[in-house]
Amino acid sequence: MDHFLYRDGVLCAEDVAIDDIAAAVRTPFYLYSTATLERHFRLFDEALEGLPHLVCYAMKAASNQAILKTLAGLGAGMDVVSGGEYARAVAAGVPGNRIVFSGVGKTQAEIRAALVNGIRQFNVESEPEMRAISDVAVSLGVVAPITIRVNPDVDAKTHAKIATGKSENKFGIPIARARDVYAEAAALPGLKVVGIDVHIGSQLTDLAPFELAYTKVAELTEALRADGHEISRLDLGGGLGIPYARSNDAPPLPTDYGALIKRCVGHLGCEVEIEPGRLIAGNAGILVSRVIYLKSGEGRDFLILDAAMNDLIRPAMYEAYHDIVPVMEPPAGVELAAYDIVGPVCESGDTFAKGRMMPPLAEGDLMAFRSAGAYGAVMSSEYNTRPLIPEVLVHGDQYAVIRARPTFDEIINRDTIPAWL
Ligand SMILES: *Cc1c(COP(=O)(O)O)cnc(C)c1O
Repeated sequence: MDHFLYRDGVLCAEDVAIDDIAAAVRTPFYLYSTATLERHFRLFDEALEGLPHLVCYAMKAASNQAILKTLAGLGAGMDVVSGGEYARAVAAGVPGNRIVFSGVGKTQAEIRAALVNGIRQFNVESEPEMRAISDVAVSLGVVAPITIRVNPDVDAKTHAKIATGKSENKFGIPIARARDVYAEAAALPGLKVVGIDVHIGSQLTDLAPFELAYTKVAELTEALRADGHEISRLDLGGGLGIPYARSNDAPPLPTDYGALIKRCVGHLGCEVEIEPGRLIAGNAGILVSRVIYLKSGEGRDFLILDAAMNDLIRPAMYEAYHDIVPVMEPPAGVELAAYDIVGPVCESGDTFAKGRMMPPLAEGDLMAFRSAGAYGAVMSSEYNTRPLIPEVLVHGDQYAVIRARPTFDEIINRDTIPAWL
């Protein structure tokens, strides 16, 4: 559920008409709903009620300071995957003991910064990384809390570019080797083993792969305890999918996911962490764009928008589907026509949809890409020297620009001319 609904013929974000924001901010821009962000966070938090738990928002999905502050205010922890994200979480007021650090290639500088300011745990992804964390901790005279990310060799049945839990993926250590690696971790002077971590992929629309993975984690917990390790925390990752097409079957709900977690690991007496990203931010954001031209091609008509692949790369990168709707509500029963919906960037991959059935549209019309809140703005670039587009946050009947569009001069002035030119 989200808070982007037609009201009196205009698509609104909560209580604000989107055409009003477009007139003030200029298209294209990302638009987020506070109520939707809050609702999604609470769904997860409530789904784990009864278990000691922390919902650590995977902030790589959408990491604007205003979004982080909104979620942190509800008690969210953060899952970060870089030193930059760690700094963003701290800047948004998230205490170190609510930040977990994931990612396959943490550098010594990143490890040091997190240890100096405070960290809930590092989710270790390899043996060399484990040794590096121990070395840095020893050099600082501290002990680093860690989990080890195990790869359970489970098929998440999602797009290949976002599956992470098969043995061929670069993530984690094979679960079959876990006991040896935990033995080495326990022997390193700078580490304190606190638990186990797993994350099998993103946009999962079926609970079965989670159940397989979490059952393996539960078995591993017992085995590691028998080996003498203190396993008090299980980080079960993120990955629950969202409905991208209104017509599709709805993916499982956070409540069902929470019940599954309780069933698989509830008896172990561990504190549980989860790291949802997409489900919190995805349907809490839309991309608003305007039709620049209607172009008739051979056998097909093109709708050329002012948004492009540099603003929203998911269709080009993952063949992702987004519902695209006019901001002005079309009359009921209006006849639809097929369009290829494209951006102005000089790449054939800059195509959002092919043969999409749309109501009649004209140059200047406003369009909204639904479900664009996660992996949207954060993956955007300035390819073709198109400025990063603004982000706007709605809260009831108010809205604020939470990241302004840079000017051309600001973009150009980031470059430096060497002395010999
Ligand atoms: C990307 C990622 C997540 C979030 O995945 P979603 O599909 O957005 O919920 C959680 N944990 C880790 C380690 C990740 O890399």
